[in-house]
Amino acid sequence: MDTSERILELIELCRRAYDKGFVSGSGGNISLKDGGDMLITPTGRNLGVLAERDIVRMRLSRKRNVTGRDKGAAVIGSGVPSQEWRMHLRCYERADVVCVVHVHSPHASAVSCLDIDPDCGMPVYTPGYSVRVGRLPVVPYFRPGSAELASAVGDLIAGGATAPGRNSVLLANHGLLCVGAGIEQAMNIAEEIEENARLFLLLGDRGRPLSETQQAELAGKY
Ligand SMILES: [Zn+2]
Repeated sequence: MDTSERILELIELCRRAYDKGFVSGSGGNISLKDGGDMLITPTGRNLGVLAERDIVRMRLSRKRNVTGRDKGAAVIGSGVPSQEWRMHLRCYERADVVCVVHVHSPHASAVSCLDIDPDCGMPVYTPGYSVRVGRLPVVPYFRPGSAELASAVGDLIAGGATAPGRNSVLLANHGLLCVGAGIEQAMNIAEEIEENARLFLLLGDRGRPLSETQQAELAGKY
């Protein structure tokens, strides 16, 4: 797939996120890996109306390219990337990540404002959610666009010696972020999180989550 096809795919994904009500105003940002670069949505724009010329290209390798300018750091060509570009760059430090979706979908955002378990933001209600998401860690609140938020998200996505990398996180009082080896995979995760959040809010304390055993049985089944 060449670059212009990737840009069109990214624009199509942005429209899908907008049509689903996952973003409003100029909220949310999505990026796609393109060789040694990432293609990312611009700052201050509605994701439902983007054109090819609006997409911003940034180098994934920051060591060689950061110029010291803040918003323009590592940008190739013109345009100003989403203020949350640092968070996206950090996610691509994991080699298998091809797409990063960050949206403020209403139910997941509502859950992110509850007093929830930081290790697992929601009970697991459905098989699809169990397989694609499972335990959803919660990143404490940091100012959107801050280096602190990028660092906290990047650490959870990357994982470490004691904890495997995660494909999705909830951002406290903010929204959700997920990564995938492709556009479809990343968007499916976002949809599963939003749907499980909707069920969680509908059910309140009446829900019956899947047990650990039921979840273990599902591993690798999707
Ligand atoms: Zn955001």
